[in-house]
Amino acid sequence: DPITALSELRRKLSPQGDIVSAAGRQRTIDLFGAPLTPQQVVEKICGDVREQGLPAVLDYTAKLDRRELDVDTMRVTAEELADAHAAADEEYLATIRRIRDNVLEFQQAILNQDVSIERASGAGRVVLGQRYLPLRRIGVCIPGGAAAYPSTLLMTAVPAQAAGVQEIAVIVPPTDFGGYNVDILAACHELGITEVIRVGGAQGVAALAYGVEGIPQVDKIVGPGNLFVALAKQHVFGDVDIDSIAGPSEVVVLADETARADFVASDLISQAEHSPGSGVMITWHRPLMDAVRTELIAQLAQLERGDLARTSLEDYGALILARDTDEACRLSDLLAPEHLHVSTANPESLLDKLQNAGAIFLGHYTPVAAGDYVAGPSHVLPTGGTARFANGLCANDFLKRSSIIRYDEASLRGDAGDICRMADKEGLTAHGASVSVRVGEE
Ligand code: NAD
Repeated sequence: DPITALSELRRKLSPQGDIVSAAGRQRTIDLFGAPLTPQQVVEKICGDVREQGLPAVLDYTAKLDRRELDVDTMRVTAEELADAHAAADEEYLATIRRIRDNVLEFQQAILNQDVSIERASGAGRVVLGQRYLPLRRIGVCIPGGAAAYPSTLLMTAVPAQAAGVQEIAVIVPPTDFGGYNVDILAACHELGITEVIRVGGAQGVAALAYGVEGIPQVDKIVGPGNLFVALAKQHVFGDVDIDSIAGPSEVVVLADETARADFVASDLISQAEHSPGSGVMITWHRPLMDAVRTELIAQLAQLERGDLARTSLEDYGALILARDTDEACRLSDLLAPEHLHVSTANPESLLDKLQNAGAIFLGHYTPVAAGDYVAGPSHVLPTGGTARFANGLCANDFLKRSSIIRYDEASLRGDAGDICRMADKEGLTAHGASVSVRVGEE
């Protein structure tokens, strides 16, 4: 039964699915003297940062990341950023610039525009509008526990820059993959980001959310991270805005008889190598199933991270044979994947049948990696089935809007009857009075 199997897959992949390594659990016991759940760990860390401020941030950094930092050394200096940039490979910097330009071009093109309309009311006119302004200050989480992710910096900070956000604070764990990573620091410098702070995990999220010495409070926190980062963002939501609660990466590949087995296998493996990551192929062409299975075995044997990807595919992967295209699309919609790759002869023709996906990749020559790294839409996308209702990050998420309403005496007179009737219905007579005092009894 594919539906039951997919629901189980979904549950395991949710941020609450409790994916913490044995070493992580042991660390929790060492730190707190008890086997707390990840939620309890995050509540404790956030509570301590809220109450004690910077000392708690530095204390958790020492215990979790094994770095003794202070208010000065946690901040990457302008000189360190410039030195990293000077030491960086010129081709890498050129790539960063090209990607920045692609992301800026797309994100600026989709920016919400102010709106103004007029409507006749009585003998006058009502002017109605919507105005967008960028958030003043945001925080970006760049992961740095197990690998360095300069692409995540591009896919979060550049949309914010496209929206016109003035202050961008980047937090990144104090690791060789994070706050001491030349590629990350050089990319920050290339993008003109000057506030880079070497804290990560729940303590970093809490510092941004509540504000501590050396890290002023932000209005919104974006960017991915491990389970502790995801749960901390969920915890501080309300004190600040957040983008989403990111779970492990996932792809659904919808494939027909024109799909190449070696292409499809590489698509599934490239998500699985995130470890954990999920790769699901849905096809209505039986020979492709067998060919993809054979290809998976061959490609996994060749790959540097082959063992990790194999375990991931065993736990969170599936090859599904659907009766026809319609059933394949329905199954994909039930999964509501972060990435949906339509690997068919005429992929546009399936778009009308598909409702739920964070990003849709059309055709055999559009691997997810093109969107991950260079295309322009952000790779921060809704995971865990949340593409049913949530969206990928974009420049508009860094705008806030105010509605604008203007009446004159004649137009207020025109709407006064309706206003007073509604105020009467709700028993809010002062509301009605605020109109009658201006235009007299209707
Ligand atoms: P991370 O920076 O998210 O987390 C490292 C931090 O976690 C550490 O600094 C530490 O403070 C904290 N931590 C670790 N163990 C802990 C414990 N037992 N208790 C409390 N805190 C603990 O880096 P990571 O671990 O490498 O995870 C990065 C995640 O982000 C991966 O799952 C990766 O797949 C994901 N990612 C997603 C995207 C995306 O766009 N969706 C992009 C890049 C990375």
